[in-house]
Amino acid sequence: MKYKRCENKVIVRIDKGEEIVDTLKSVCKKLNITLGTITGIGATDKLTIGFLNTKTKKYLSKELSGDHEIAPLFGTITTMNGEPYLHLHINVCNAEQKSFGGHLASAVVSVTFEGVIDIIEGNIDRVYDQTLGINLLKL
Ligand code: FE
Repeated sequence: MKYKRCENKVIVRIDKGEEIVDTLKSVCKKLNITLGTITGIGATDKLTIGFLNTKTKKYLSKELSGDHEIAPLFGTITTMNGEPYLHLHINVCNAEQKSFGGHLASAVVSVTFEGVIDIIEGNIDRVYDQTLGINLLKL
């Protein structure tokens, strides 16, 4: 992974074999980013996406493998329990241009990943909501 900060934006390159979610979290930690958004494109050949079942309040996880374009990834950066908290959604396309998407748990880069973090000055934390079963923005 390599990154370069340009004022309130950080350009991130994640390399083949590296995992996207953990890598983005480590960039946020290193640069003390507590609030912002992240966008990205690239390719992955192994990812796990989730779909929240609102009745059971559990994520149904699905693992995809094989070549996929990331088209695109988008997410928010906040904090929870003193750590960066990334809420990421992803859409990926296969060789037939069929797309799949969901809540991103993990994705391994197969070629490269190019991300842009947009830093917002401030700090927003999260709080667990028992009714919904998710970590809501604490506003
Ligand atoms: Fe989500």
